[in-house]
Amino acid sequence: MTYLDYAATTPVRQEVSTELLRFLTSDGIFANPASQHRFGYDAQEAIQSATKTIAAYLNCHPKELLFTSGATESNNLAIKGMAYGFQNQGKHIITSATEHKSVLDTCKFLALQGFEITYLKQLENGLIDLQTLANAITPQTILVSIMHVNNETGVVQNINDIAALCNEKNVLFHVDAAQSMGKMAIILQEIPIDLMSFSGHKFYAPKGIGGLFIRNHLKKQLVPLLHGGGQQFGLRSGTLPTHQIMAMAKALELQHQEMPEQWQHLLELKQRLVQELSQLDGIIFNGENTVPYNVNLSFLCVSADSLLIALQNDVAIATGSACNSGAIEASHVLRAMNIEGERLYGAVRISFGYDLSLDEITQAAQKICHEVSRLRQLATE
Ligand code: PMP
Repeated sequence: MTYLDYAATTPVRQEVSTELLRFLTSDGIFANPASQHRFGYDAQEAIQSATKTIAAYLNCHPKELLFTSGATESNNLAIKGMAYGFQNQGKHIITSATEHKSVLDTCKFLALQGFEITYLKQLENGLIDLQTLANAITPQTILVSIMHVNNETGVVQNINDIAALCNEKNVLFHVDAAQSMGKMAIILQEIPIDLMSFSGHKFYAPKGIGGLFIRNHLKKQLVPLLHGGGQQFGLRSGTLPTHQIMAMAKALELQHQEMPEQWQHLLELKQRLVQELSQLDGIIFNGENTVPYNVNLSFLCVSADSLLIALQNDVAIATGSACNSGAIEASHVLRAMNIEGERLYGAVRISFGYDLSLDEITQAAQKICHEVSRLRQLATE
């Protein structure tokens, strides 16, 4: 069985799970980091050091980071928090039609409260046209929220140019970096991004931990979602999960060190996958300017759902995002790219990680080719 669904979640690395356990048991530093005793201070110091590691990766100040339960919470906090904080200056938010549901549904919720939302439509290759974005900005616009790497197609948006445009127009810019954090360098000192969401389980840390980068001067205007003990500048109350934070920082540190070699290896894996799958007729790759760890393609004359079922005990791949796959509905991301018909219903996402070998990719691709051919044959009988 080969797991090729890394965009849904990644396995926790051995070094990361060791770090996780170290901060859970009484042999280690398990105390509440807010407690006023030696154990508590030790936990607090450990978190400070983890925060510095993450800040170093992003080139930001440690005080510009908030820990959350993952990118869903970070997206909610960033968008609602800024919408409420800046509503006196305007009630218009711009996002794109291919965002994750945690952005789209947050915007939908805000629309019920009188905010006006513009959903930019992508070009057919999945990219946002900068001029379309520029035209959508009005004096009422307070926030633009655009993801870095799309979780279904792997398309990389040009966040540098989008950030520059938002900066020039004096509009806040939030980036959902769930699919790029830990895999691509994001140098916040050089790009005027105001807020950025990330999630540990996309880069070999456990599920249930993530973060939000927020520029220091914006913290006073962020309206919190959670009230309580006043942790994290009062912006996100709740006992800090030391073990999860330590694990995420460890995972990020390792990713940071290994990024160039991983990138090279992933490029080779992708090349091999594409080469093997290209032996089939009737395939179309979806999206341009994509990351080396994600391939989205359509098998014509095959329904993606039947293919997933045929492969379920051999190769784990996905249609669209895992969060939507429970309900069988066509991908809103591909639809926004004007992809329809059998290209839409035959689309799958194959996503992978640094710990896979070329042989594993070859065997999985051959199995996929075999099942696609078998299903096509069955359809003609
Ligand atoms: N945004 C994107 C782009 C994602 O891929 C995901 C995870 N599928 C999320 C947000 C939500 O992240 P989490 O699972 O950490 O809530």
